[in-house]
Amino acid sequence: MTSLGEVDPDVAEIIRAENRRQHQKIRLIPSENYASRAVLEATGSVLTNKYSEGYARERYYEGQQQIDRLEELCAQRARDLFGAEHVNVQPYSGSPANQAVYVALGRPGDTVMGLSLAHGGHLTHGAAVSVSGLHYEAVQYGVDEATGRLDYDRIAALAEKHRPKLLWCGATAHPRIIDFERFGQIGREVGAVVVADIAHIAGLVAAGLHPSPVPHVDVVTTTTHKSLRGPRGGMVMCREKFAKAIDAAIFPGLQGGPHNHTTAAIAVALKEAATPDFRAYAARIVENAQALASHLRDRGFDLVSGGTDNHLLLIDLRSKGVSGYQMAKALDAAGIVCNYNLIPDDPRSARRPSGIRIGTPAVTSRGFGIEEMALLGNWMARVAQARADEGLELAGRKQRYAGVASEVRDLCDQFPAPGLIPEA
Ligand SMILES: *Cc1c(COP(=O)(O)O)cnc(C)c1O
Repeated sequence: MTSLGEVDPDVAEIIRAENRRQHQKIRLIPSENYASRAVLEATGSVLTNKYSEGYARERYYEGQQQIDRLEELCAQRARDLFGAEHVNVQPYSGSPANQAVYVALGRPGDTVMGLSLAHGGHLTHGAAVSVSGLHYEAVQYGVDEATGRLDYDRIAALAEKHRPKLLWCGATAHPRIIDFERFGQIGREVGAVVVADIAHIAGLVAAGLHPSPVPHVDVVTTTTHKSLRGPRGGMVMCREKFAKAIDAAIFPGLQGGPHNHTTAAIAVALKEAATPDFRAYAARIVENAQALASHLRDRGFDLVSGGTDNHLLLIDLRSKGVSGYQMAKALDAAGIVCNYNLIPDDPRSARRPSGIRIGTPAVTSRGFGIEEMALLGNWMARVAQARADEGLELAGRKQRYAGVASEVRDLCDQFPAPGLIPEA
């Protein structure tokens, strides 16, 4: 960081402070992680200097000797890891990867179907505020109110009724296994192209901890920076028959030059994800999530669907007398970082919902295990209690949060996170 510190002390200071925050806090946002030093090094490389519109051996500028090798290596690793026929590694992120599917395989005005945002789906699966809902006729399915789980018979009936061109499956806030095989079946029955978005669970899928959609659906999209633990980026995997359309949708349909530094870092992350160490890591993510779920249930927290099969938990805080917004702010003050989140059929608004969403990919990367999950459950209960205590003045509450934050910092000091620069 010497040169950055000399050229731009302001930005250098911000990065140092963020490094410290990522060290001292328990990061439970389920879409976040700690990328390795190797991934960060590739991201910060001279590859950022190169333009390479097009695809290997069909570029529009010269000087692609290294870039062609790099992109082919990255795509080969992705095909091997996920068993996909074709992979495009150029999408700038998860949302552009999904947009590419709409551009490749749909036309504005087509009927599309996806899990609603309010029930754990992603914006890009047909939410009214996103291009996917604005430019397409979006039909949204939800989870069963009583169980918090997907009801596949209901989804099949809805698909039969609306005959969507694209049927999206996958989620951003759903704690249970998704039956991609069943989605594939439903798609075949109604003549829909089935797209599985595994942005959150890509690391679990790569490690065999969540059933893979690749054999069952037509197209699979993902981010690379969540449980897969790579740089911020996206990929589209598909059957060979869709390869041309997907590639053309990404370039020249939506994007210009690919971010080659990101491609390099994705290649590194894919190599890491193919190791036995990574498979063990993914198994610990799930073990930790289940341990945390059990500690939270013991302390009276309501979990949507009652628990988790994957890396994340959705907590319904209504029984605790605090809103998701209040709890998220209180936890942050206590050194525990999550996001407030809608719960299915939330009586409150998206800005002030009833729940929070937490996940274990980042804490598992820094080595937290079952014992640390017990501490975490205890701290979360203390914070909820302090926030809900009507008898406490603001100062008293803040003191309780600070007490937890200090214990959190002590624990974090024992678990240096991958990728971070050690504090001097
Ligand atoms: C995170 C996420 C995305 C979008 O990824 P960005 O990189 O933030 O654009 C898409 N789909 C799902 C299911 C996600 O969870």
